[in-house]
Amino acid sequence: MKILLKVLGCRGSIPRSGKEFENYGGATSSYGIRIGERLVVLDAGTGILRVNDMLKEGEKELTLLFSHTHADHLLGLPMCFPAFSKDFTFHVYGKTRNGKTIKDQVDAYLEDPTWPVNTDKLPANFIYAPLEDGMILPGEPEIRINIMEAVHPNGCCLIKLSALGKTIVYATDCTITDANRAEMAEFAMKADLLLIDGQYTPVELGGKAGFGHNSWTDAAEFGQLCHARRTLIVHHDPYHKDVDLDRATEDVYYIDPSVNLAYEGEEIEL
Ligand SMILES: [Zn+2]
Ligand SMILES: [Zn+2]
Repeated sequence: MKILLKVLGCRGSIPRSGKEFENYGGATSSYGIRIGERLVVLDAGTGILRVNDMLKEGEKELTLLFSHTHADHLLGLPMCFPAFSKDFTFHVYGKTRNGKTIKDQVDAYLEDPTWPVNTDKLPANFIYAPLEDGMILPGEPEIRINIMEAVHPNGCCLIKLSALGKTIVYATDCTITDANRAEMAEFAMKADLLLIDGQYTPVELGGKAGFGHNSWTDAAEFGQLCHARRTLIVHHDPYHKDVDLDRATEDVYYIDPSVNLAYEGEEIEL
């Protein structure tokens, strides 16, 4: 059995559209992971509107893990197709922050008057649980989740998913610092696939201290540091056009040829 990861959306901060953004895509963070009968989705940015591409006929549930609930990671949830099916169940996991459970956080975004229906009123069933380090997702095959707190405004979880002897590390919305580099590298060590935030150019990063992201060169060097088998840079800046991201692809190639920039619709088999 193989694991299939599909990039449903890899834009950061806010969606973009237009032909300058066509190749890498404008939908925000969402990644589908197919492991046998189970579909795990990381974050529910506008990319999750493509989740139907991954659902099998008659499939009635998915597991949704939130790294955090900044709007770009949540925007797509109320409009994704399965949310309108009364037979469909979302098993939603996320960390409690500021005393707010993951349900509180999701429903706060969907609260009157900024959105007409919260997850209690949407037709699908939403079952919430806290995201915890070392947890095993119920069902077969066995899927283990580990998390590590990232440096990011309001907080964010790095998520490591282990299944079938493979590991995927999702490190979006994080800042690699001198203080946390070693611990982050240990967390992501020898990942079969590393998704790492590399939103900015090295020059831009200088003016964006505290924004909670990395440059693409720092991201590529981090992939090398933790000996990731394959590294995908994600959370592309909404002002970076295809031409800019092509240049980034060249830059990171010279750091490590196994590093690439993610593009919407990309599929990786592990
Ligand atoms: Zn984000
Ligand atoms: Zn964020």
